[in-house]
Amino acid sequence: MSSGKINVSVENIFPLIKKFLYSDHEIFLRELISNATDATIKLNHLSSIGETKGNVEDCLIDIKIDKNKKTLHIIDEGIGMTSDEVKKYINEVAFSGAEEFLEKYKDSASDAGIIGHFGLGFYSAFMVSKKVEIITKTYKKNVPAAHWACDGSPNYTLKKSDKKTRGTEIILHIDKDSKEFLEDSKISSLLNKYNKFMPIPIKFGTKEETLPLPKNAPKDAKAEKVIVDNIVNNTKPAWTQSPSKLKDEDYSNFYKELYPMQFEDPLFNIHLNVDYPFNLTGILYFPRINNDINLQKDKIQLYQNQVFVTDNVEGIVPEFLTLLRGVIDSPDIPLNVSRSYLQADGAVKKISNYITRKVADKLNSLFKKNRNNFEEKWNDIKVVIEYGMLSEDKFFEKAGNFSLYPTVDNKYFTLNEFKEKIKDLHKDKDDKIIILYSSNVDEQHSYIESAKEKGYEILLLDSPIVPHLIQKLETKNEKLSFVRVDSDSIENLIKKDEATVSKLSDEEKDKLKPLIEKIIPKEKYTVQIEALSSSQLPFVLTQPEFMRRMKEMQQNGGSGGGMLGNFPEMFTLVVNSNHNLVGEILKTKAKKKRDRLIHQALDLARLSQNLLKGEELTKFIQRSVDLIK
Ligand code: ADP
Repeated sequence: MSSGKINVSVENIFPLIKKFLYSDHEIFLRELISNATDATIKLNHLSSIGETKGNVEDCLIDIKIDKNKKTLHIIDEGIGMTSDEVKKYINEVAFSGAEEFLEKYKDSASDAGIIGHFGLGFYSAFMVSKKVEIITKTYKKNVPAAHWACDGSPNYTLKKSDKKTRGTEIILHIDKDSKEFLEDSKISSLLNKYNKFMPIPIKFGTKEETLPLPKNAPKDAKAEKVIVDNIVNNTKPAWTQSPSKLKDEDYSNFYKELYPMQFEDPLFNIHLNVDYPFNLTGILYFPRINNDINLQKDKIQLYQNQVFVTDNVEGIVPEFLTLLRGVIDSPDIPLNVSRSYLQADGAVKKISNYITRKVADKLNSLFKKNRNNFEEKWNDIKVVIEYGMLSEDKFFEKAGNFSLYPTVDNKYFTLNEFKEKIKDLHKDKDDKIIILYSSNVDEQHSYIESAKEKGYEILLLDSPIVPHLIQKLETKNEKLSFVRVDSDSIENLIKKDEATVSKLSDEEKDKLKPLIEKIIPKEKYTVQIEALSSSQLPFVLTQPEFMRRMKEMQQNGGSGGGMLGNFPEMFTLVVNSNHNLVGEILKTKAKKKRDRLIHQALDLARLSQNLLKGEELTKFIQRSVDLIK
């Protein structure tokens, strides 16, 4: 037996390890299983080049809990270590790695998310243990096994062991304050979180399995039950396989494996696979995405060589793609850096651009292959695409080919197709093409109807980022403007040269205006008298496009006039001088009756916008009853 002192400059590194990694204690298991996996893969490699014989197939990694001794065991059948190798790899290499890590990160412990992602390796075992033992036997012939032990001080012991089988057993004597790691359920959930897709089978206990009955079994035959190893991982997850070998079903089965609580199938998937200039594999899924963006983020899982790292891929994939689901596996993503550094990192930029391009290409090919199907899916995917167009210029350019603009009558166009269709009728006097849209067919129903009467086409743009997106589309297309159907009177939505002839003279208009202004609340409505050619209403409420859009943009974040924050809602009250009832108002001499007509006309306008509520609605109903009596 020999003993010695681990060569470290810090007298006692262990309290430091505990302190700095406090929030992420649980990663020790991932680290130790990674080492066991590496040792097994190395053995397979040696065997494949003829360096070793004997059983290298079916190597398992076994995880055991001994509740009495309060120990946790990680046992592999990999290459093992000689006594000298333990000295070298554990006392020197592993330790210097740990020390270097602490040197680097003790000042930036605040960036805790990253620290947890950093592979601290073997020494992370001390985060949860008061003592750690290694019993290991190398694959090399006639070399005795070694037994190393260390109690958390820089002192260790190293002696011979009588272990007969190849491989390494790590024994953790779990600390009092970490006793949760002696619970089956805890270990089980950790294995499920970090090791679910690692390449070497991991056994955790056993389970009972029911054998299938033979085909011609008698009716009362009982199925036979057997005890089998409980293997916790799928060693060949779909993303590690070649896309040409996978069927749709394989992709949807893998989706269920990733998200067992998810009952809905994804709409489609994108298989990522590059090895130059960086290594990256993965599968992204488009789930059904509704308008509530924030609830749906952070479902993509990041792996490095099949080891789970995190489900926060911020900075690695562009933000709009965090709405997708699936996995990304890349050894080339540096995790030992802060998020802000990550975003500036050249390799990560390339990865992010690659993913964006793949997603755009896939969407484009889906669109080309089966446009009907794409149109059917549009409502469930549009938020991602619109979000992407808004935030990534490269994506914006590509999306021009497949991003769709549905009309209120459910016909789908690309922007170019739509422009082509409407270019004559929707051109205003300055040669600008005006695209009319609605954000809500029910609320803006009467406006849509008037516009249709004029022969106009109206788009239905109802996702939350639309105000931002149309702003961008206008910047990129000089001769294009988006105008919501309720933002002006029908005559002014698309300003043409010819004016509708008014039934009222200028004199009559001048008389009418103050009559109305006297009665309606001035702080809310600006009165404007106009001759409308198509409207069933005597009064129409509109909200100027610019103001409303700025307000909306501000409400869902991003730029937009900061000073508009507390602006009250202002409407233009368009009085249709060609409507019979307006003529009636002017003719009516009795003040009481006239006022009642004005109130009634205003309330009808509000009702058509769904703005009439509470006491005002009660009054309106009462007045209506009086009028028909
Ligand atoms: P890393 O794995 O990053 O190299 P570690 O601190 O985890 O650092 O381990 C240091 C070294 O100890 C490994 O590189 C390996 O040579 C050796 N080692 C650790 N665990 C095992 C194991 N289960 N079997 C064989 N060798 C191991």
